[in-house]
Amino acid sequence: MRPPHRSGGMVAAASAVLLFAACSTAPSPPDRGRGGPPGGVREAGGHAAVADPATVRADELGAVPVLMYHQLVTEPRSVYDRTPQDFRAELERLARERYVPVTARDFSGGKIDIPAGTHPVVLTFDDSTVSQFRLGPDGRPASDTAVGILLDVARKHPGFRPVATFFVNADPFREPGGRTSLDWLVKHGFEVGNHTLRHTALGTVDDAEVQEAIADNQRAITQAVPRSPVVSMALPHGSMPHSRQLAQEGAADGVRYRHQGVYLVGSNPAPSPFSTAFDPVAIPRIRSQEATGPDAPFTSAAWLDKLRDGTVRRYTSDGDPKKISFPGTETDRLAPAHRQAARPY
Ligand SMILES: [Zn+2]
Repeated sequence: MRPPHRSGGMVAAASAVLLFAACSTAPSPPDRGRGGPPGGVREAGGHAAVADPATVRADELGAVPVLMYHQLVTEPRSVYDRTPQDFRAELERLARERYVPVTARDFSGGKIDIPAGTHPVVLTFDDSTVSQFRLGPDGRPASDTAVGILLDVARKHPGFRPVATFFVNADPFREPGGRTSLDWLVKHGFEVGNHTLRHTALGTVDDAEVQEAIADNQRAITQAVPRSPVVSMALPHGSMPHSRQLAQEGAADGVRYRHQGVYLVGSNPAPSPFSTAFDPVAIPRIRSQEATGPDAPFTSAAWLDKLRDGTVRRYTSDGDPKKISFPGTETDRLAPAHRQAARPY
C-alpha cells in the first residue's frame, strides 16, 4: 500500500518550501485598472462567437487557477480535506464567475477552447481516493463523490464543463488495476495523470528510483486505459527530484515517459501557457480552502477574490482557440514561441 498523503510535518515542510519557491516566481504584477467582470460577451445558441477581444477584455496572457483537491469528508481532519458542501460551493462560485474547466493536458498544451469572456480553471485531484470517484450500483458516479457533485453542478450551470484531471497512484479508487474506474473517467472526458505508483517523494530518492516510481505508474495507467497517453504529472508532496528534468522525461524497465506539464503543490495562480513566465516543469497549483489559518493568503478563496477584483491579472478568453489576444501593453510577456498566433489590441 502506498503511504497516505497526510498533513504531517513532511507535507507541511514541502508545502512551505514550494510556497516560497512558487511565490518568488509569481507571474502576475498587480493589476492596474483592468479588474472587474468582462462585459459585452456575445454568445449565440449556447456557442461562443468570436468576439472583439477588446469588447470582452480578452487577456490570454493572464493567470489561470489550477485548483488542487485531495478528499471530500464530512469532518475535515487536515487542510487538504474539504467537505462535499464546500466543494460544491466552490464549483458554484466558479460557475457564477464565468470559469470553464479545462484539463491539465489542455491547459499545458495551450488548447484552451472556451467561450469569449470566460476564464479557464483546472480542477485537479491527487491520490485517487474513493471520495473523488466511485461508481454506484447503477454504473454512474456516486452522487456524494467529487465527480458526482461536479456532474450535478454542470447540469445546473450550462457551459460549466465537467472535466478534471486525476493524478492517480497504484490501484486507483481502491480498484485493483483501476481498469473500470479509469476507463469510465477517460470515456467521459476526464484526464488521468501520474502521481507515481506509491506516492514517492521524488526529492528523497536517487535518479533511478525517480524514474521507476514514475514509469511503473505509467505502465499501470497504460494497462488500464491504453488509448489515453499520460502527459501530466503531479509531484507527491510537491517534492521535485534532484535531477529536475527527470520529472518531465525519463525511462525505466523499458517504459519511457514524457510529460507536457509537471504540477507542484503550492500555491499561487499559474502563468498562462503562452507567457514568458510559464515553466512546464513547475506549474503551481492552489490548495482548495477557505481563507483561514496561517496559509490564508494562499488558499483558493483568497486567490479567487484577487483574480475577480483584478489584483491578479486573470486569463480571459477571446473565444478563438487559434489566436492569443491580449492588451498591446503586455506584448513583452508573450513567449516568443507563440508570436505567430498573437493578436494584441
Ligand atoms: Zn499526493
